[in-house]
Amino acid sequence: MRKGKQPPRISRHDGRPNRTRFTATQTMTSDRNDKERPPQAVFGAIGHEADAAAIERLRERAAQALDSGRFDLADELLAGVDGQEIQLAKLVENLRIYQAELEIQNEELQLSQRHAQDAFARFSAFFNNLPLAGLVIDRQGLIKETNQRARTLFGLRNRPGHQHFFARLIADTDRGEVIHAWSSLAGDQPRELAELHFQTLEGDRFIGDLHLATLPGILDDAPTYICAVLDRTESARQRRALAEATERLRRSESFLNATGEIAKVGGWEMDVPTGRVRWTDVTYRIHDLPPSEDPPLALALGFFHPDDRQLLEHRIERAIARAEAYDLQLRMTTAAGREIWVQTTCQPICEDDRVTKLQGTIQDISHLKRSEEQLEFLAHHDPLTGLANRSLFRARLELCLQRAARNGTQVALLFLDLDRFKYVNDSLGHSVGDQLLERVAAALAAQVRSSDTIARLGGDEFVVIMDDVGKPRFAARFARRLLGVLDQPFATETRELYITASIGISIYPEDGADMDTLLRHADIAMYRAKENGRNGFNFYEPAMSAGAAERLRMEHELRGALARSEMMLHYQPQVALSDCSLRGVEALCRWQHPRLGLVAPDQFIPVAEDSGLIGELTAWVLEQACRQLILWDQVGFRIPRLAVNLPMREIERTDLVNRVRRTLERTGLAPDRLELEVTESMIMRRPDVAITTLDALRALGVILALDDFGTGHSSLTYLKRLPLNRLKMDKSFVERLGEDRDDEAIARAVIALGRSVGLGVIAEGIETRTQHDFLRRELCEEGQGYLYGRPLAAGAFMESWSMIEGSARLSAARSASAPEPEPEPEPKS
Ligand code: C2E
Ligand code: MG
Ligand code: MG
Repeated sequence: MRKGKQPPRISRHDGRPNRTRFTATQTMTSDRNDKERPPQAVFGAIGHEADAAAIERLRERAAQALDSGRFDLADELLAGVDGQEIQLAKLVENLRIYQAELEIQNEELQLSQRHAQDAFARFSAFFNNLPLAGLVIDRQGLIKETNQRARTLFGLRNRPGHQHFFARLIADTDRGEVIHAWSSLAGDQPRELAELHFQTLEGDRFIGDLHLATLPGILDDAPTYICAVLDRTESARQRRALAEATERLRRSESFLNATGEIAKVGGWEMDVPTGRVRWTDVTYRIHDLPPSEDPPLALALGFFHPDDRQLLEHRIERAIARAEAYDLQLRMTTAAGREIWVQTTCQPICEDDRVTKLQGTIQDISHLKRSEEQLEFLAHHDPLTGLANRSLFRARLELCLQRAARNGTQVALLFLDLDRFKYVNDSLGHSVGDQLLERVAAALAAQVRSSDTIARLGGDEFVVIMDDVGKPRFAARFARRLLGVLDQPFATETRELYITASIGISIYPEDGADMDTLLRHADIAMYRAKENGRNGFNFYEPAMSAGAAERLRMEHELRGALARSEMMLHYQPQVALSDCSLRGVEALCRWQHPRLGLVAPDQFIPVAEDSGLIGELTAWVLEQACRQLILWDQVGFRIPRLAVNLPMREIERTDLVNRVRRTLERTGLAPDRLELEVTESMIMRRPDVAITTLDALRALGVILALDDFGTGHSSLTYLKRLPLNRLKMDKSFVERLGEDRDDEAIARAVIALGRSVGLGVIAEGIETRTQHDFLRRELCEEGQGYLYGRPLAAGAFMESWSMIEGSARLSAARSASAPEPEPEPEPKS
């Protein structure tokens, strides 16, 4: 019944099904395990097959013995079979146990193999990712293993598969040292070699540290060596950079010292915990001290002005307590007793959040302070007279008014203008004018109390502020005193001069609550003093304001008008009465006022004359008009003659002739195309001077016309002596031609007079055909007036006249039906 029975399957102790099988790959392991197995077990396993066959043979022989009736033999044989079976069962049992042990051992073996593999993988990863270059070399020095960093650092990855000697990676200079260290490695004692020169396979050099250690061989294996290389290039570079920076610092420090010497900037340092002070040589020099021991803090501070010293001590305390820098300008007295200004700076130095040092500079800035004071003086004083200028005057007056408002006191403002000062300037020259101003200023200033202010506002205008004047009559008394001071000759370079002044007085608060009103009213009162015959004074009265204020304002605005290009010229045609052909143009000045619009010359020319602006204005008109004529020439619009009005006093100016000549030269206008218009009253003021000037102008080739003829009182004697070319009959006689017999008689007489003294005659203000016809009949040669054209700006003038010429124009434009050409806006007068 046991025949064919399979041995039970072997289970593990825990009863789980056994999954372990020997495989081909585990042959080695099983071989190795065989060595450890007891020899009987192996024998048992082989004998098991043989015994089964022997038992089978015994059974067959017992069966044959039974069949042949040999029972005893059959029993004997069957007993052998039983014994063998028992033995076999034991053997099988033993085998089972061995097999179970074997499988357990096999499992443990596999587990530890996995651990080993795991550990190896981790070590490989660690080795590969080390920031150090790791190389394993054998006893011959051949590189066996490398990590990632080593391959990168030495360029080994570029030549995989090549065998390299580690020594090849060390620069010649250091190779010997490394080989020596390597060969003398003892036991597990590693060696460190710092700052060696390595080289890559490409030949690039770098500096690194080397760590050498022996890796003991397993069993009989020969030992290998681990070489760890730390690339020091970066830190070496940093160290080099640090050394260079230190050297640079040292050099710039000495440079700083040198520049400090040159720039005279001293240095100082204070050690906060000890209070020790150090100075540079320049600092000693600033203090007028020889360089010596460190000065005690108290001594260092003792040089400063007592007031400034307090401030300095306060700032030093703050610098220490709050790490606050400072930059101060302070007064001090040096050891030699010099009073100087210094600029001192301070920079706190912190360590561990505490101020441990103060460092700073000190510089003698006395010269700077002096020029600052000079600048300050210049900014507030008139350079010619040294008196307060307009800005200081305003500041002082402002203060006075505030004080007076608080205290309920009065302030007097005296506005003083020299009489006819312009003539001194014009006739004797500016240098004499300046000298006179200087002397007068000094004389006036000597009369002024220290609590009062005298200022020069410009030109020949002075103003005195009398603070707390008490009673207005004190101001009157003072004005009289000032006028009295002028009652003496003033010596200039060339001669002694007498001058008078006119004074206007305004009183705060009666005549004005603010500075500008007071000033304006004092000025108006001064004008009134001038009108009253000069060399006197006037208190302001409200009745004076009406005209004077506007005039004053205009004068102020006129000053900037040229600069702001507010002046312009209009041109009015002068025609031949015979055919109305264009004979000339008269340039007439206009002021394009930002507030008032187009202002007529009657309004501003007298203001310009009074304020001394007329010279500049005339020069501009002359230049502008001459240029315009040339421009018209250039575009083929030819006008034979240009008339320009000369202002009242221009003719008395010595340089007029030269100025005219220079203008002609500059603009290229022929002199005989320029006609200058003068008036009778201009000539009659100072006939001799006028005649000299006119002669010189004639000699220049310029044409001269007597403007507004008939309105003045020129005597015929003078008329004959004047080098004139033309008379301009005033429009007042033209106005009523054809209506007023008297005017007609005058017109006839003027024309006859002109003819008799050989002068051309032009009639002004022709507005009607009747006037034109009358004058033409009387053989007046030329005419000017709205009938032919209103004054127009250059562009409009050319447009209007270049299209229609001469008589064609007259018949076209002046026939009863024809409309007037569109006039430019008429100026207000
Ligand atoms: P003026 O030299 O006698 O100039 C003629 C004035 O008569 C001009 O006045 C002109 O516009 C005006 N007028 C011309 N035709 C007629 C007319 O048909 N009817 C009327 N009612 N008036 C006519 P404007 O331009 O206002 O000039 C006035 C004065 O101002 C000029 O008189 C001249 O003495 C002076 N003036 C003009 N421009 C200048 C200049 O640039 N410099 C100087 N110093 N004075 C100038
Ligand atoms: Mg004129
Ligand atoms: Mg005129």
